[in-house]
Amino acid sequence: MVVPFNRPYLVGTEESYVLEALRSGRHCGNYAFTQKCTNLLQEAYKIKKVFLVPSGTAALEMTSVLAKIQPGDEVILPSYTFSSTANAYCLRGAKPVFADIDPKTFVLNPKSVQEKLSKKTRAVIPINYGGVSPDLNQIVEMANSVGALVIEDAAQGIGAKYRGQWVGSVTPLSIYSFHETKNISCGEGGAVLVNDPNLFELGEFAQEKGTDRSLVIAGVKSKYSWVSLGSSYLLSDMLSAFLLAQLEARSQIYLARKTIHDAYTKMCLKYLGQRPFQIQQIPSYCETNYHGFYLLFDQAQVRDQFLIQMKEKGVNSYIGYLPLHSSQMGRSFGFKAEDCPVSESVSARIARLPLYNSMSPSELEFVLERVESFLRNL
Ligand SMILES: *Cc1c(COP(=O)(O)O)cnc(C)c1O
Repeated sequence: MVVPFNRPYLVGTEESYVLEALRSGRHCGNYAFTQKCTNLLQEAYKIKKVFLVPSGTAALEMTSVLAKIQPGDEVILPSYTFSSTANAYCLRGAKPVFADIDPKTFVLNPKSVQEKLSKKTRAVIPINYGGVSPDLNQIVEMANSVGALVIEDAAQGIGAKYRGQWVGSVTPLSIYSFHETKNISCGEGGAVLVNDPNLFELGEFAQEKGTDRSLVIAGVKSKYSWVSLGSSYLLSDMLSAFLLAQLEARSQIYLARKTIHDAYTKMCLKYLGQRPFQIQQIPSYCETNYHGFYLLFDQAQVRDQFLIQMKEKGVNSYIGYLPLHSSQMGRSFGFKAEDCPVSESVSARIARLPLYNSMSPSELEFVLERVESFLRNL
């Protein structure tokens, strides 16, 4: 047996929904299935306004337009994240300012944000990692003190909670991803989540190539024209149909992932404190959506051995992010490895275990046995 790191998943109703969209005669964005997904997301996750877009990356780029990022603005983000989090703002001319993460939760450390705040800070971008958000209230308070906007990159965060609120509904702007590696997917897709009503109209313009077409559709104007920056930030209705099928199965998906995550946790608890490794700490104010499960070894060498041994035994475990601040692009912005020591250290020592919706009980058992045997012999 070989257990993959991820396996794209179908709930079963995708095919008939996509066929329905094809036969409806309307295939572009903002038609029947997009409307259904949008309503479902707004109601289920208490988000004020949702825009379905082609990817999590496109969603981040749209938030950059909504935040009116200008050349020279500073945007604070964790070094330990995906390249898209930085690109979205750098594409508008912002200077990325990399902050460090907490060594136990692997998400943005508010103390590090505090140190990086300046008069030029225009936005702060915490990310949700594997279902865990940093202390968003604290970060919002800090950002407010310099007039900066908080945009949570919750690409991985659908279905997770922060202080009892759904992730995506907490900060003025946020995003989800529906890439095939995320909990809920339509292959490629994403959403911009707007909780500040002042940004609703600009969201409609930006999504429709910077035009006020939404006013024509609403019957307010007869011709639409160019009124803001924007792009084609729309998800086709066929992909929305795919997405609706998965959104409707969200409870089943959540439970499938919880079973796997709980089994990993239970096994690890037998060795925690006895062997040189940790697992991601889930703060008391967070409820995870079980997106990821991580082992943090005390030593990088042991992590490397773990990945090799697991691969030999048929288990595809994987590394986390390579820090952005010390990447080729990060260095071109003037950052040095020592600027975010925790990100460097966690990145070298972390391993992610396979966790996907369709993991069978025998696959789970297979992984558990092999990981446990490695930990026992540490
Ligand atoms: C997956 C992910 C993205 C990118 O989403 P896509 O839909 O693949 O473009 C951005 N940020 C984070 C934190 C992610 O996990």
